[in-house]
Amino acid sequence: MPVSQMKVNSIRLVGGVAVLDFLNSCNGRRPGTSLNEVTENLLSLEDIVYWFHHAQVINADELAHYLALLPTSLSEQSHGYEQLISFRELLYQLFYPIAEGRRMTAASLQFLNNALEVTAHCRQLESAGFYAVWTWHRSDSLEEMAASMIGRLAVQASALLTSPDMTRLKICSTLACDWLFLDTSKNGRRRWCQMNICGSREKAKKSISNLAC
Ligand SMILES: [Zn+2]
Repeated sequence: MPVSQMKVNSIRLVGGVAVLDFLNSCNGRRPGTSLNEVTENLLSLEDIVYWFHHAQVINADELAHYLALLPTSLSEQSHGYEQLISFRELLYQLFYPIAEGRRMTAASLQFLNNALEVTAHCRQLESAGFYAVWTWHRSDSLEEMAASMIGRLAVQASALLTSPDMTRLKICSTLACDWLFLDTSKNGRRRWCQMNICGSREKAKKSISNLAC
């Protein structure tokens, strides 16, 4: 397995749905964050393609096909990369305020409606027996590949936004963490994206400040 794939596969998937996990591939842009800089975990279009496979948004055949479409130089990957990262940040700006308990506005959905419209040619519904699934046409250019990837995120985001699961959307309780997740715990009192990382960090901070008192 290539080093870049191993690095991407180490990114934890704790959001409960892939589109939230995609938002969780970066840290430090949350308003009021205690971090001094933004930490980006996806540094190239190749990283993003590996991430889509890691999060099971694309299968192994699609991964091989997408990798074959990628130009070797980072500069040639940059347009598709910028498109995917810009779209991720628009999604973050949409989901973050909702997780903070604020209502979304009609204007905040405009970019998502646009994305669903311009990527409609990439997908079709197919029967899976008693339910239907979106299937995605094979992309034969870098441009189509980026459109298909944005389309998959847009469809997932719209499915989440129209689902009762939105009442479970939360943001991690520590300001040093940007991560969003669906709280599927029985009592609905999950506070951290990962108890063993952010939960432990906050508890350690609390016990130090208690000692200081
Ligand atoms: Zn966290």
